[in-house]
This record gives sequence, C-alpha cells and structure tokens, in this order.
Amino acid sequence: THAENAANDIAAHLHPFTNLATHPQLGPLVIQRGDGIFVEDDQGRRYLEAMSGLWCASLGFSNARLAKAGSEALHGLPYYHTFNGRSNPAAIALAEKLLALAPVPMSKVFFANSGSEANDSAVKLVWYYHNAIGKPEKKKIIARRNAYHGVTVAAASLSGLVPNHRDFDLPIDRILHVDCPHHFRYAEAGESEQDFATRLAAALEQRILDEGPHTVGAFIAEPVMGAGGVLVPPATYFDKVQKVLARYEVLLIADEVICGFGRTGQMFGSATFGLKPDILTAAKALSSGYVPISAVMVNEKVHAAVAANSGKIGTFGHGFTYSGHPVACAIALETLKVYEDENILAHVQSLVPQFQQGLQSYAGRKYVGEVRGVGLIGAIEQYADPARRTPFDPAQKAGARLAELALAQGLIVRAMGDSIAFCPPLIITAEQVDDMFARFARAMAIFEESFA
Ligand code: PLP
Repeated sequence: THAENAANDIAAHLHPFTNLATHPQLGPLVIQRGDGIFVEDDQGRRYLEAMSGLWCASLGFSNARLAKAGSEALHGLPYYHTFNGRSNPAAIALAEKLLALAPVPMSKVFFANSGSEANDSAVKLVWYYHNAIGKPEKKKIIARRNAYHGVTVAAASLSGLVPNHRDFDLPIDRILHVDCPHHFRYAEAGESEQDFATRLAAALEQRILDEGPHTVGAFIAEPVMGAGGVLVPPATYFDKVQKVLARYEVLLIADEVICGFGRTGQMFGSATFGLKPDILTAAKALSSGYVPISAVMVNEKVHAAVAANSGKIGTFGHGFTYSGHPVACAIALETLKVYEDENILAHVQSLVPQFQQGLQSYAGRKYVGEVRGVGLIGAIEQYADPARRTPFDPAQKAGARLAELALAQGLIVRAMGDSIAFCPPLIITAEQVDDMFARFARAMAIFEESFA
C-alpha cells in the first residue's frame, strides 16, 4: 500500500535534491509502472509525464524492444569490462553507431554511466590532452552561470547553479564561469539578440585574456541550457563564441546530455545551433533513460594526442568498472535503432509547431513573463508583474505551486525556480500534446485565481 511504501521510504531512503527536513511530512510520490507517456503511482493515479522523468525517457515508459534487448543481453553476456583492451560486441557496435550519428566528425567514443561522469571524463580528457601536447598550464575550463553539468566534483564545479556550489565549497580550482546567454533577463534595454551575443563573446574573450590564454583549456556549453531554465541561445551567440575559442586554441565541449538524440528537432543540439565541438558528452536519451549509460566522443585532434601520450608515458588512466557495460550498450544500441525505425526525428519535427504554439499561447497571461523553447523542449516563466518584469518573491514559491497544481491535474512538469519546464517523451502524439496543454490550462487557471 502507499502508506507502507511511504513509511519505508522515509525510514530508509536518502533522496537527492529533496528537502530532507520536510520529506518525512510530505512523503514520496511512488511511481510503480508506466505505459507510453504515462506513469502510474501506488494509489493508481495516472500522470502524463511531460518531463520524460528527468529529461530522459524519450521513448516513454514501456518500450518492449528495449526490454527485450536488455533481457537478451542479460542472458548472453551480463557483464564484462573494457579495461586493458577488453571489449564486447555491444560496446563496439554502439561506439560505431555514435560516430556515424555525430554532428561533426568524431574519432572515438569513451563510455561512462551518467552525464556527470561523462562531463568529469571530458574534463580529464582536456587536462590529459594539454599535458600531451606540452601545454600543462592550459587547464582552466570555462563554464557558464546557470549551466547544469551534473553533480560529481568536477561536473558540479562546471555547473553554475547555486545549490551545486553552496555548501560544498565548489567550484574547484581551475573551473571558471562567465555570464549565461539569457537575453530576456540579462540584455540591456533595447539590446538586440545579436548585440547581446556580441557583448557576451567579447566578455568571454576579455576573461580569457585576463586569465592568460595559455591557461585556458576548454569551454563547456549545453546547446540549450536545461536545468538553468530551458535557455535557448540568442541568435549568433555560438558563432561568436566559437570564433573567440578558435583564436586562443580553447577546446569546445558540447554537453548534449539533454539535447542529444532529437530533442531540439535534429539529432544533436550542436547541429541546431551550429556548434563544432572537439568533445561531446551524451547520456539520458542515449538509452531513453532505461539504463545508466553515457558517452564521450572526442575528435581526432584530441584522440591523437591522448593516444600518442599513452604510448609514451603509460596508459590513459581513467575509466569505470561499467564503461561499455554490455547490457547498457545493448539497450542504448536498440534505442538508437528505434529512433531510426520509427523515424523519430521526422515525428518530432512534425509536432514542433503544435508544441511551440501551445507554449506560446501562454505568453501574455497574467503571470507569464517569458515563454522559451525549441524542438520538443520549452519553459514558461512566471513573474509577479510581467509588464514590469518583477519576479515573484521566492518565498511565494510560485513555480513549485504551479507544478503542484499541474500534478493534481495528472500532469508532471518541473519547476525550476518560477520556470515550468516541458520536455515530453519524443513519442508523444498530437492528441497527447493537446491533452498535456489542456491539463496545464486547468492548473494555470487555478494558479491565477490563487493570487486574486
Ligand atoms: N548535463 C546536463 C545538460 C544535464 O541536464 C544533466 C542532468 O540533468 C547532467 C549533465 C548530469 O547527468 P547525470 O544526472 O546523469 O549525472
């Protein structure tokens, strides 16, 4: 029963990103099964999962092909490792497939288990690379405020959100942050997207010069910033940023953990926004979230230096027990095949106008300040007074309230501050997009009344 589940959860389970002081009173929402884009809790209530869990369950919650692929892998080779040159067919096939899909020519794939590990691995690859090419001082990595790159020590340092740093004495040394490209919030009065992008690129260049270009090794960016509030980059931003990076031989890491595999309407956000990364990290929709797996792709420039150095001074001393895990790789490989067989990109593109118009229909509502989105991801941000751009007092917890009201309508969305995010499974149908917005409309109406 739910009462038993709740009591046992409270007794035994330490939850991530949860207020542990209030959890014993509030208790858990226990999800016990899923079908398509819906999940069901332990009281039989169904929810339309408009966040794909944590931006990951792209094929919904009951894909039989993925279950079969996992089961076959478990009965075949349930585990083997990839250290010391060991390999397995699923890891090999997945690496080949990822290289074929990459948005720019990539040379090799390294496997890890989560987005955080992929980003930590990318940091270490950058450090190793600069040692290998005889530039051991070029180790600083520039990230952006409001970025989210994960929670392991390096990834949390790359992240630029307060909860990732505060209370942990992060970021670590050598990880720096520059302004994030949120035009609506940070542009000066009358500043166009292009001028805003020019200003941010100039500030990035100045920061590189201040630090000393010989000390700056890489810049990391999500094509669309997810947990920071679904921030879509302003026009020309990545163009201008990449010109600066090229001038000072700063590598580009694209964090495609959310954007990868169709979310923005193309296979990778890098294609949508013109990024040409040297290193690319992916996770989440790589396996539709069904098993933990992530990948780091490196181009030949990075790989060649790492491989050459490995021959000179010893092995590349980094890797996980579960790097290239055969069950995870088999499920990821099947996921990528399902995307192809079901023509998921074409499906996503066909829904984008309806989805984006649905979001935009909230622009101009009483408490809506900004609507953002691209592809099948978006956010609606609430302001106390949108005309004056006055945010809600954080104590009012406006975003959390709206998300709670949506939950009561059988809709799971995510509040990030006062922004409400939507990131539905890519298999959502046109009728289900309407259903999603109908549920949200009821929640929004109650939300607006609650302030009257
Ligand atoms: N990078 C991005 C862009 C993410 O959104 C996330 C997770 O939400 C991560 C990295 C971290 O991934 P994980 O939670 O699998 O460690």
